[in-house]
Amino acid sequence: MMIHTAPEQNRAAKHDPAPVHRIRLQVLEGLDYIQKGFVYMLDVCLLGTSGMMPLPGRWLTALMTRFEGSSLLIDCGEGTQVAIREKGWSVNPIDTICFTHYHGDHISGLPGLLLSMGNSDRKEPVTLIGPKGLERVVNSLRIIAPGLPFSLNYIELTKPEESFVLSGYHVTAFRVQHNVTCYGYSLEIPRGGKFFVEKAKENNVPMMYWNRLQHGETVETEGRTYTPDMVIGEPRTGIKLTYCTDTRPVESIVTHAKHSDLLICEGMYGEKEDQAKAEEKKHMTFMEAAQVAKEAEAGELWLTHYSPSLLRPSVYMKAVKKVFPNAFPGKDGKSCTLLYPEEE
Ligand SMILES: [Zn+2]
Ligand SMILES: [Zn+2]
Repeated sequence: MMIHTAPEQNRAAKHDPAPVHRIRLQVLEGLDYIQKGFVYMLDVCLLGTSGMMPLPGRWLTALMTRFEGSSLLIDCGEGTQVAIREKGWSVNPIDTICFTHYHGDHISGLPGLLLSMGNSDRKEPVTLIGPKGLERVVNSLRIIAPGLPFSLNYIELTKPEESFVLSGYHVTAFRVQHNVTCYGYSLEIPRGGKFFVEKAKENNVPMMYWNRLQHGETVETEGRTYTPDMVIGEPRTGIKLTYCTDTRPVESIVTHAKHSDLLICEGMYGEKEDQAKAEEKKHMTFMEAAQVAKEAEAGELWLTHYSPSLLRPSVYMKAVKKVFPNAFPGKDGKSCTLLYPEEE
């Protein structure tokens, strides 16, 4: 995987208190560029890093991504919409909101966010995803946010693992282990196989069908069937991001975070002495998060959901990096852009 660091695009830099840590750059060339006409990229922003309560300078943990004009939000605690504005991003294009669970620090910001989206003249429906009980919880919160100018679609999670395709995002929710039902999420932007002119010619595929086949269509004409594999190769590595918070370090996280370019994972406690507390309250220590990232072979780890008593996450990082060198303490507004990896 090619990883380069580069300055972020000119996006509200003055509002962004955290440095951009990692950008995977890719320059599409030749046929690839002509076929796609643009570069696929996923903008990622860790909006806040606090657990339990927002603090001055530390919003509650939430993640926002942007892809192809569609934004996705995971968790929405008190103040999340302020964090979005501080980042300089807009609430209007949020098409999907995922909830890990229904503790207040992950959902109490929803009514205000929905009202702001309504005030920004949003008309398109918004899809909400969360554990069973979602519609009941949201309807309760909406007593103070009635009459929105857009509709809400609900997807209630009931199985250990569920996958959806929404606005180009391939979303997988997976159950983790907290003191209430809680899910982690993987977001993937898959990438199809490369188009090979030689392959198309070898298979005698008329040029007029190349474009349709390379976009996954099967063409049947004059007694012949042309399939996409006649012109394209094996699927290529896409983009993968995994977010999990409020959980013990269970196997489902390792499984679903496997080979993620970026894993954003809770680290409620930095001190080794807090291990017993982490186990009792169903959270993780920094070291446990690092171990998960190592086992998942993630590209990079950002820690988040700090206990309010944890004032300086960076002081624990030396030990954490011994377990997983590519670990970084999350900071409010920390962002990166993930792109398809360069090919050999
Ligand atoms: Zn929490
Ligand atoms: Zn919780």
